[in-house]
Amino acid sequence: QLIVEEIKTTLGIKATNPAFSTGLVWGGTGNVNTKTIYSPVDGQAIAAVNLATPDDYEQVIKTAEQAFIQWRQVPAPKRGDIVRQIGNKLRQYKEPLGKLVSYEMGKIYQEGLGEVQEMIDICDFAVGLSRQLHGFTMHSERPGHRMYEQYHALGIVGIISAFNFPVAVWSWNAMLAAVCGDVCIWKPSEKTPLTAIACQHILKEVLVENNLPEGIFNVIIGDAEIGALMAADSRIPLLSATGSTRMGKKVGAAVGARLGRALLELGGNNAIILTENANLDMALRAVVFGAVGTCGQRCTTTRRLIVHDSIYDEVKERLLKIYSNLPIGNPLSDTVLVGPLIDKEAVENFKKSLIAVQQEGGTLLIGGEVLTGEGYETGTYVTPALVEAQNTYRTVQEETFAPILYLIKYSGELENAIALQNGVRQGLSSAIFSTNLGQTEVFLSAWGSDCGIANVNIGTSGAEIGGAFGGEKDTGGGRESGSDAWKVYMRRQTNTINFSRELPLAQGIKFDF
Ligand code: NAD
Repeated sequence: QLIVEEIKTTLGIKATNPAFSTGLVWGGTGNVNTKTIYSPVDGQAIAAVNLATPDDYEQVIKTAEQAFIQWRQVPAPKRGDIVRQIGNKLRQYKEPLGKLVSYEMGKIYQEGLGEVQEMIDICDFAVGLSRQLHGFTMHSERPGHRMYEQYHALGIVGIISAFNFPVAVWSWNAMLAAVCGDVCIWKPSEKTPLTAIACQHILKEVLVENNLPEGIFNVIIGDAEIGALMAADSRIPLLSATGSTRMGKKVGAAVGARLGRALLELGGNNAIILTENANLDMALRAVVFGAVGTCGQRCTTTRRLIVHDSIYDEVKERLLKIYSNLPIGNPLSDTVLVGPLIDKEAVENFKKSLIAVQQEGGTLLIGGEVLTGEGYETGTYVTPALVEAQNTYRTVQEETFAPILYLIKYSGELENAIALQNGVRQGLSSAIFSTNLGQTEVFLSAWGSDCGIANVNIGTSGAEIGGAFGGEKDTGGGRESGSDAWKVYMRRQTNTINFSRELPLAQGIKFDF
């Protein structure tokens, strides 16, 4: 507990924290509803937060609008320099922030550090990007004319984030948005608001040192109600929302109704295919990390393992051995690999899915227990489950945000495995393990995986920030992070310039008078 107090002091977390921050100013305007945040690690109350009111929201929007007028005029490489400084601050605070991520969300400390490293990486990426916000130049069909396109800042970018990556997903959005000249309003998950408050304190140092205006980076603490205000608000031209497909359908409809842009990063139901040519030593490392890492609470968690019947029994036996020895416990301990689920509701969903899949005909091979006794008093620690199942089961078709790995057997050609892999509504991440080039290329072809992420000889989780991240179908279609994902944060303008002394019309149209 002493260590936690120290982390909180370092990161500016108070006993009760205000409902919003516009950078330098922290506030709250009205009737305050307070929510206490308990750690899933040991059940201790970490701190409380005030939930924002609609008046708070209005104040944040007004401040962001003001800031945008100034920020969009700052040259992009100078904005990049601010992001560079934010990256340096994050390097300085990597350990306490990583610990707070671990303590508030429950992922192991190594993954907490990894999450902060991802924030640092995206800062580096965004700094380079700030000098590369390129458009094309085109040849005009008219003599003495020139055409080109440029990208301009869009305005306020709303960011709604999920509990499982409480800070990294924000930084993927916010750092790109910042170099693009946008300002951000971040609504973190109501389950993990403290790490967001910590980030805002870290940012504040950069804002103060550079004499920057209020409102470039804002955070507002609230639940779905504040999220819904953001979705319906045409003052937010781009809303990036990460979370469940259920949430995404509501947010997507509300943003669509006002013809805004929605960047949706929703649920996954990710599979790894093990063909008869898989290197099993490599594959099993990837499968176990993918299935039990973050206690099965990554959007890219491996949920289905599609295994060729010739190696099925060996895979099952080796997995059973590994699953019977998984170190489960306090995620801040060096030896633990599996921490708790976020809360008791998640534990209930885990239990319900296991009952349902067995009712459908699945076989629970190992796991599925809620741990009790010393160190497990919170009731949020579970043993990861392995279940033999069919892809068509309703339970298998859904994303249960918990460590359940479904073993699914296929026979014959790879096409059969690909049909199973694609035979769900979600389309986020996928992987194949095979040393046969023909198989891996088919998996990556247009008639292969239908997911936004398709990997060869690595697992489904743990993406690098350099690529565009996101998925198809019920995963929402959005792309963020690397590659050219930045384009969604800007508005594109096509410019045609006439430097001749004539006014010819396009398409050769004659219009003489
Ligand atoms: P969730 O959908 O319950 O909540 C996510 C966020 O949406 C929260 O901030 C919540 O307050 C907000 N929200 C909920 N309903 C809303 C509404 N009607 N209008 C506006 N905002 C609303 O999800 P969660 O339990 O926090 O996170 C787990 C889910 O997130 C999983 O499905 C996981 O796969 C997904 N996820 C996806 C990605 C990705 O990049 N594709 C990344 C992380 C998590």
